[in-house]
Amino acid sequence: MADVTVMGAGIFGLSVAWACLGRGVSVQVIDPHGPGAGASGGVVGALAPHVPENWNDKKAFQFDSLMMAEDFWAGVQDASGLSPGYARLGRLQPVPDDHALDLAQTRAAGARTLWQGQADWEVIRADTLDWAPLTPTGWLIRDTLTARLHPRLACAALAAAITARGGKVLAEGALSGSVVWATGVADLDALTAHRGRMVGNGVKGQGAVLAHAAPDQPQLFADTVHIVPHEDGTTAIGSTSERDYDDPATTDEQLHAVIARARAAVPALRDAPVIERWAGVRPRTRSRAPMLGAHPLHEGQFIANGGFKIGFGMAPKVAQVMADLVLDGVDGIPPDFRPEASL
Ligand SMILES: Cc1cc2nc3c(=O)[nH]c(=O)nc-3n(C[C@H](O)[C@H](O)[C@H](O)COP(=O)(O)OP(=O)(O)OC[C@H]3O[C@@H](n4cnc5c(N)ncnc54)[C@H](O)[C@@H]3O)c2cc1C
Repeated sequence: MADVTVMGAGIFGLSVAWACLGRGVSVQVIDPHGPGAGASGGVVGALAPHVPENWNDKKAFQFDSLMMAEDFWAGVQDASGLSPGYARLGRLQPVPDDHALDLAQTRAAGARTLWQGQADWEVIRADTLDWAPLTPTGWLIRDTLTARLHPRLACAALAAAITARGGKVLAEGALSGSVVWATGVADLDALTAHRGRMVGNGVKGQGAVLAHAAPDQPQLFADTVHIVPHEDGTTAIGSTSERDYDDPATTDEQLHAVIARARAAVPALRDAPVIERWAGVRPRTRSRAPMLGAHPLHEGQFIANGGFKIGFGMAPKVAQVMADLVLDGVDGIPPDFRPEASL
């Protein structure tokens, strides 16, 4: 018997389980497909902030979560002995024209207030950097808030950390204690079927891994492509965003186009061989925000879903507010993140 049962061993389920374990209760995670079998088993791993302007609950929540990430992942690494590949190395983005330069400078001022002195958003000259995207104005945006981790390795490290601290990660088992459903697209599909209208859906994404080592360099965001150097000497790039797809797991010419855009934007990647292609389906709620709180279908149980494109960035804070709710009845969930926002 466990005090908490978490259904689903993706980044949301594992993170919620880890936070609950940290509060001293017994936890089991049940997933017939194992850790990282869904959207979380990918390769990209950009923990990238929203732009520092037009502040709202979602941006504030994500900012808190990004600030929590370093300690969160250090704790996971300590307990598991495995690296999740986390490092806060920042990000560079090209500035295409004068309008974008003005906007970047306005956002630099916004970051000084909204990021509370904990990270910078600044405009810098590109000419001194070897690892950078091409930038028509000669200027780059550099932020120091963006971090990276390796999604698949992060899930493996979390699962190992949970086990090392006495939790269980199982393929099957009986529900016991408080139950949290973190089953990604499967649950959004079930909610949509039950309501008879779209509550959430899957959005397919494809990413690739290149053999290019830049493990201490910042990630790049150019021509809407995330380019993320990893600790293991590879560089991941992604992603496509597809609402209509036949096969959730295959890659195709849409990924070739993403790879081509990355190579065009970053000269250092032009000849780097592709060593892996990967596709997964992101859980997107109708409101596009995470769905956290009381489960709309399973009375007395909970839901943690809707990570969509930033599930890894949101996970530390999602885990914290879910543990507060499930274990202490303390509800710190922003109104826009409640299930009702998408029902
Ligand atoms: C190509 C791509 C690139 C991405 N890039 C980034 C990025 O750079 N940064 C970022 O932060 N996010 C990124 N994301 C988004 C991120 O991967 C998702 O937000 C996140 O993985 C969602 O996690 P989850 O735990 O909610 O869902 P999932 O990882 O899908 O986990 C759900 C789990 O539930 C299990 N399950 C299903 N039904 C049941 C059941 N009945 N009982 C028990 N278990 C069940 C499944 O096996 C699965 O393991 C990307 C996604 C994709 C596809």
